[in-house]
Amino acid sequence: MITHRLFIDGAYRDAKSGQLFDKISPSNGQVIARVHEALAEDVADAVAAAAAALKGPWGKMPKAERCDLLMRLADAIDARRADFMEAEVQDTGHTRHFAEKVEIPRGAANFRIFAEMMKNTGGEYFHMDTPDGRGAANLELHRPKGVIGVISPWNAPFLLMTWKVGPALACGNTVVVKPSEESPATATLLGEVMNEVGIPKGVYNVIQGFGPGSAGELLTQHPRVDGITFTGETRTGEAIMKQAARGLRDVSFELGGKNPAIVFADCDMDKAIEVAMRSVFANTGQVCLGTERIYVERPVFDTFVARLKAGAEALVQGGPDTPGATIGPLISDEHRRKVLSYYAKARELGATVVTGGGVPQFGDARDQGFFIEPTIWTGLPEDSPIVREEIFGPCCHIQPFDTEDEVIAMANDTQYGLSATILTENLSRAHRVGAAMEAGLIWVNSWFLRDLRTSFGGSKSSGIGREGGVHSLEFYTERSNLCIKL
Ligand code: NAD
Repeated sequence: MITHRLFIDGAYRDAKSGQLFDKISPSNGQVIARVHEALAEDVADAVAAAAAALKGPWGKMPKAERCDLLMRLADAIDARRADFMEAEVQDTGHTRHFAEKVEIPRGAANFRIFAEMMKNTGGEYFHMDTPDGRGAANLELHRPKGVIGVISPWNAPFLLMTWKVGPALACGNTVVVKPSEESPATATLLGEVMNEVGIPKGVYNVIQGFGPGSAGELLTQHPRVDGITFTGETRTGEAIMKQAARGLRDVSFELGGKNPAIVFADCDMDKAIEVAMRSVFANTGQVCLGTERIYVERPVFDTFVARLKAGAEALVQGGPDTPGATIGPLISDEHRRKVLSYYAKARELGATVVTGGGVPQFGDARDQGFFIEPTIWTGLPEDSPIVREEIFGPCCHIQPFDTEDEVIAMANDTQYGLSATILTENLSRAHRVGAAMEAGLIWVNSWFLRDLRTSFGGSKSSGIGREGGVHSLEFYTERSNLCIKL
């Protein structure tokens, strides 16, 4: 049985709390690891190590050297891709295809892109006039924010954790990472690679555990943590904001979504189906950017529904070790119970269940896993909880519409503002409707496509702040203005 220990000050160690918890496989319900739970003393040790490292070799390292080291880290992650992939798929039940093509390569890229960017980023310079005519020079200085607390979720653990650790380290900070209790493995493994390439001790620390009353809450309350970056549910974000209020620590939040896709009658239907299949069912619907509401212009509504149904029914369910699997299980029994409660609610509310709606039976070990049927509904009003609340499963509701104004209003009528997808071959419409979407990321004829130098984040209840490219500097650095009278 694997045991995941804590990684503090460059070394693996048992939790002083003496407490361990089980990690259960989503694919077959078996215990696959025991995980050390960090409580107050362990969290304090990790934060102290991170604070001390700011004053050690890491803090004194020239920027170019630091960035070169992170480039080597990215290469070392690539060299151990198979190990990261195995750790990730066993924790999450993801298909190997998703882990191999999307998650693990993005982990390495997250270090490479921010190291390259920081190496080439300078600050602003303004010359100002003064009454004596000699002027003054104003220079913007960037300094690391300090110790960054990183709280990450389970749905794409390595990708989302490194999306924060990459820019944090490139900007010269140190980190204490609290991965989700459902996905402890890849953050732990990364400690080994940090040591392998010579990242100084204390720069990267990992504490395992839960949120409330455990490592997550203790980390976000710790007064020596200078900033907290969090990806997860909106409600958890609200709790963390309260915890971070003590000492007025800065927060960066990437939260939930209830993202719309709009399919116009002038779309390329093959493209629309391909995009919808990915955005609804990729990662078993456990993607913050995924589509859970689809609006289809009435003349093509029946065709779209029939084709998406055929696509959903052709998916092959299985864990990472099931040959030919195209859709995995949900992360946990608890999460499946939550998604199934929406399946039940949809039926109670009179939805037309186009396909799915239950739990599949396989007659093999998968029956002990947390599989669920890909599901499509139609026929519910816009104020139904199925259309308003984030479900985070392989499911969507499809609604017909008649006019552009009507569909823009429906798409924007949500507390969330993370992403939106528009399917049309009409360029003017793409610009017009795209600009009207109240969301941080808007795709036309695509989904999940983005240059990492662009900004990423959500509006409304979907987040606070933007990360990505130079936008990450906003959160991961402190700025000072140095004004020199000439
Ligand atoms: P979650 O909010 O339940 O947990 C996320 C992390 O927060 C975990 O590590 C958890 O242990 C920790 N946590 C929970 N309560 C805490 C507390 N009080 N204090 C400190 N830490 C606490 O989210 P999840 O279920 O792991 O992930 C799914 C959610 O994440 C969905 O809502 C999804 O939309 C969202 N998400 C958003 C993005 C984005 O970029 N906007 C990306 C991925 C996932």
